[in-house]
Amino acid sequence: MRAMREPTNDEAIEEAAALLARARHVVALAGAGMSKESGIPTYRGEGGLWTRQGEPPRNMYQQFLQDPADWWRQRLNEPPTEMAVALENARPNPGHLALVELETLGVLKHLISQNVDNLHRRAGHTSLTEIHGNRQWLRCMMCGRRWPRLEFPVDVEALPPRCPEADCDGIVKSDTVMFGEPIPPDALERCARETWVTDCFVTVGTSAVVYPAAQYPQDAARRGVPIIEVNPEQTPLTDLATIVVRLPSGEALPRIVRAVRRHLDLPLAPTGTP
Ligand SMILES: [Zn+2]
Repeated sequence: MRAMREPTNDEAIEEAAALLARARHVVALAGAGMSKESGIPTYRGEGGLWTRQGEPPRNMYQQFLQDPADWWRQRLNEPPTEMAVALENARPNPGHLALVELETLGVLKHLISQNVDNLHRRAGHTSLTEIHGNRQWLRCMMCGRRWPRLEFPVDVEALPPRCPEADCDGIVKSDTVMFGEPIPPDALERCARETWVTDCFVTVGTSAVVYPAAQYPQDAARRGVPIIEVNPEQTPLTDLATIVVRLPSGEALPRIVRAVRRHLDLPLAPTGTP
């Protein structure tokens, strides 16, 4: 019978920092909890967009394929959705900035994000796989090339837009992975590769129920890789986690980064950065 008490969050943060400072290839998986802390509505659960407005059709991708031009016309002509407005107003929070700092310190080698809100990029993250795509980017369905939406000229007289790459001419769609759409193979390959080489896996603000993303920490755990979970709530991954920090990411991650700096014998970041 185990009579051990649960470590406090302070202790868990210390242990997490020690583990991160020792690890050679840290990979993190970020989920909707991080976006929520930046004021972006969640999809599911109480007050979620889909709870209130209904889920988008499960065959959205098939509908898109039947008439991509119509999808583009709707997108260009309809007023911005509640989500679009929220994204427009959202800013990266201290959790996003802390992950960037972990990357800058050379500790975090890759971030897999389930979020489509562009906040990791805006915060400055570079080694990043957005496994469900990015709402602010477009992607060619044929060659997989991506462009920031604002840098891609869309001719409303010639919809759907076509890929400008030589010899491609593929249809261009939102980079966001629609219901029914396969996740782009380059994203899947990168996630699998990073999961294979990681020696410390961090999950942040993810409920760990959406696959394949939820599979990566499980695969790592099966190889004996320690898992650090940062989440205010219990998840299906909690039982696999070596260390659990029960705090929102915007609170936990900056504290973890400060502790990592101490372990690495680095001076603390100047005031104003996490
Ligand atoms: Zn193309």
